[in-house]
Amino acid sequence: MIKALGSTAADKPLAVMDIQRRSPLADDVQMDILFCGICHSDLHQLKNDFGGTTYPVVPGHEIVGKVTAVGGDVTRFKIGDIVAVGCIVDSCRECSPCRGDLEQYCEKGTTYSYNTPDRHLGGMTLGGFSQTYVCREQYVLRMPAGLDPAAAAPLLCAGITVYSPLKHWQAGAGKVVGILGIGGLGHVAIRIAKAMGAHVVVFTTSPAKVEDAKRLGAHDAVLSTDPEQMKAYVSKLDMVLDTVSAKHDVNDYLKLLKIDGSVVLVGLPAEPLEISPFNVVKGRRSFSGSNIGGIAETQEMLEFCAEHGIVADVELIQPQMINEAFDRLEKGDVKYRFVVDMGPLK
Ligand code: NAP
Ligand code: ZN
Ligand code: ZN
Repeated sequence: MIKALGSTAADKPLAVMDIQRRSPLADDVQMDILFCGICHSDLHQLKNDFGGTTYPVVPGHEIVGKVTAVGGDVTRFKIGDIVAVGCIVDSCRECSPCRGDLEQYCEKGTTYSYNTPDRHLGGMTLGGFSQTYVCREQYVLRMPAGLDPAAAAPLLCAGITVYSPLKHWQAGAGKVVGILGIGGLGHVAIRIAKAMGAHVVVFTTSPAKVEDAKRLGAHDAVLSTDPEQMKAYVSKLDMVLDTVSAKHDVNDYLKLLKIDGSVVLVGLPAEPLEISPFNVVKGRRSFSGSNIGGIAETQEMLEFCAEHGIVADVELIQPQMINEAFDRLEKGDVKYRFVVDMGPLK
């Protein structure tokens, strides 16, 4: 048994509980968890926003750890290595998406780090707000030496979730890319899109973040509640990466696209979003979405961030402050990612 921070119902806070991890199998890597970031998806899952949470739930999928044991078939990791685990911990490895390094779209169902059926112990997987993790070698990431492990933890979800669509939609030199919603995902997206060479415009509902956007690397920032500022960008953007966690009007952003431009949703508001047909018909515009990123692409993203010196702006907290941190995240009071120092969990 090990200690974890879990919740037994949507209206209950996280509390210390005992959970079980499997003993490492031949292709497993076992790690002590050093740091785990708090993603807004953890908040959605705790509150059962999507209706699929099985309790008790132990969230946490931005995991950085130190290897403590490896199975007999493991070749890429050894005891003492600093490693990372993100959202994906297993998949069928046979279907077409899995063979194409798109494990996040596995046809048999991706196994996530928590709240999906556990292929070994039965029950549901339990996440990174815990003392240890055990993961198949193929789903463990190498942490580049140049990255601070606490500040790099959010790259394991926030980083890959924005890197994958920015790359897929070819954000780069000559492209004007809007980043919508400056939270954990959005602030990392500014840095990655800029490093890819794009001209980056931030859209935020928070006046203080308009000020902060330039420090984060944006070329321009727009207060999205001001219609005059929004008008200046009509038909000017190649892509908008939408990271907003709550219901909002995506039509305001479809109007900002050039011909053939795309609004790409990564945020997961619990309610459906409405689209006016004219906003996609006019200008042959697209509205689409993207789910995290595959394992090979996550490793590529970590190397890219190491090369460009990109990490998250984090507020490091102790395990006993985790409920306060979730309350603050819900209010939008975080600059820009909480990371829990898991070492002190007793
Ligand atoms: P976060 O840190 O809470 O940031 C969300 C941002 O959205 C806020 O900072 C705020 O930005 C904006 N926002 C919040 N409520 C709003 C509202 N009512 N109207 C307009 N803007 C609002 O969350 P996060 O961790 O970055 O996650 C963002 C979303 O992505 C969540 O829904 C999460 O579940 C989802 N997600 C999806 C994936 C995926 O694979 N697709 C992966 C990870 C997370 P401003 O203050 O700048 O307006
Ligand atoms: Zn996440
Ligand atoms: Zn598969």
